[in-house]
Amino acid sequence: MAQGVRSLVWFRSDLRVADNAALFEACRRASGASGNGVVAVFLISPGEWAAHDFAPIKVDFILRSLAVLSADLAKLNIPLLIETAKTPKDIPGVLVALVKKHACDELHFNKEYEVNEAKRDAAVIDAFSAARLKAYAHTDQICVEPGEIRTGEGRFFTIYSPFKRAFFKHWDKIGGCPTLAKPSRQAETGIAPSPVPETHAASEPTGPSGRDHWRTRWPAGEHEAMKRLRQFCADSIVSYKDRRDFPGTDGTSMLSHHLAVGTISPRQCLEKGIEANLAANKGLKGNPLENGSPGPVHWISEVLWREFYVHVMVGFPRVCMHRAFQVNTEAIVWNDEPKLLEAWKQGRTGVPIVDAGMRQLLRDGWMHNRVRMIVAMYFTKDYFLNWRLGEKFFIQNLIDGFLASNNGGWQWSASTGTDAAPYFRIFNTYNQSEKFDPDGKYIREFVLELRDVQGPAIHDPEQLPGLLRSRLDYPKPLVDRVKAREKAIDAFRKLRPV
Ligand SMILES: Cc1cc2nc3c(=O)[nH]c(=O)nc-3n(C[C@H](O)[C@H](O)[C@H](O)COP(=O)(O)OP(=O)(O)OC[C@H]3O[C@@H](n4cnc5c(N)ncnc54)[C@H](O)[C@@H]3O)c2cc1C
Repeated sequence: MAQGVRSLVWFRSDLRVADNAALFEACRRASGASGNGVVAVFLISPGEWAAHDFAPIKVDFILRSLAVLSADLAKLNIPLLIETAKTPKDIPGVLVALVKKHACDELHFNKEYEVNEAKRDAAVIDAFSAARLKAYAHTDQICVEPGEIRTGEGRFFTIYSPFKRAFFKHWDKIGGCPTLAKPSRQAETGIAPSPVPETHAASEPTGPSGRDHWRTRWPAGEHEAMKRLRQFCADSIVSYKDRRDFPGTDGTSMLSHHLAVGTISPRQCLEKGIEANLAANKGLKGNPLENGSPGPVHWISEVLWREFYVHVMVGFPRVCMHRAFQVNTEAIVWNDEPKLLEAWKQGRTGVPIVDAGMRQLLRDGWMHNRVRMIVAMYFTKDYFLNWRLGEKFFIQNLIDGFLASNNGGWQWSASTGTDAAPYFRIFNTYNQSEKFDPDGKYIREFVLELRDVQGPAIHDPEQLPGLLRSRLDYPKPLVDRVKAREKAIDAFRKLRPV
């Protein structure tokens, strides 16, 4: 006699079987092999993808990750259906119809926190309630639900360090955020899984590199994500603090794309980070998130920046609607210079480290964090262009595009955000280049015109003697750094508090 309820699990940015709160709960309530079975669905949502500027490389990565997910779910007897909802407005109707068609009792999904996504999910819950069906939303994309960690005055944190301290306290209080066991095999449903499309109009390459490169560069699915996490923790996490800022080395985990589509969870990251910390520090006392080896502790802290930015987005939803966190900075009149914007987008600014970063973005759909900071600061301070344009271009091209972190990073660089870089502390791009790419290895990999340039001129080809410089097919910088800096500082100095 079958027991338990039959659930539909709606996958979105959580494309994994292990440690997935919605799937775990649906399977628990279905009562395993003697139960009523579990059905899964992913909605291809071209309207949403277009409205939110999903990069083709990210859509391609999602499709490839879905193929892995579908195979893994099939091993648990859970069919993954692939349906289309042209616009977000169609989603509630599609889901209610699916639940009815497959005799499901309820819907489970993991929360997404952007304003439009939260509205969409509220509409789904309303539609289910109107149809006398149940829909459950779970916390999964981050470790702690936004709002659970607040300042002494009950507000959302706006500065990272006190947020992190409060997170550690909360972690101790709730006994950590353990990962969830992988679900067991469920009862057969007799429903066939859908074929997973290999491509979609939204995954068509538009830049200089194509699918073959994407697919070699970024293997998809949760097994690849876990392999990468394990490898990073075994080989590199201990030296992370020393190597993380050097784009010419493989010093970081390169897991952001997996976190963005949910082929790995932040809980899994913290668990493995803690394990690495404990392995390096036998008998470690105190909270292993914050005590122990500098490498793991620093990496854990970076993972928590992502958590912080999601909490900020929920506490201050304006940041998700093209508005500045520091409201008074909305009075800034940014430059309107299409020529500068184009040069930056194409990686032809004449500043090697900036061009290397932008060409890495165009080739790989990814950029090293230090270089993201450099190119964003150059964009917003030296070019004095509106951070919203840079934010958009990043999302349109990043495989790891994630609104909360992207917006956080851009507003940090523009000095308009939470915990932002003070407006008068503008990176000297050339010093950054010399410090973090000392031998020019990173620049030479991406700016091929400069590959034969030797010595410090790799950072600033204008230092080359006239004849040598004239032989380079490489643009000259378009702005005077000193004047640009003065202009930016002046514009911020004139702002009035709101
Ligand atoms: C202008 C700008 C835009 C950015 N846009 C995005 C984006 O769209 N998506 C995105 O995931 N990250 C973004 N970041 C943050 C960061 O650059 C990337 O997360 C990081 O480079 C990914 O590489 P990794 O996985 O090797 O990171 P690691 O150094 O190994 O860090 C581990 C994880 O911690 C998180 N993390 C690390 N640094 C940050 C940070 N500064 N802010 C938030 N989370 C962080 C990421 O999820 C990352 O995968 C942006 C940063 C800046 C300055």
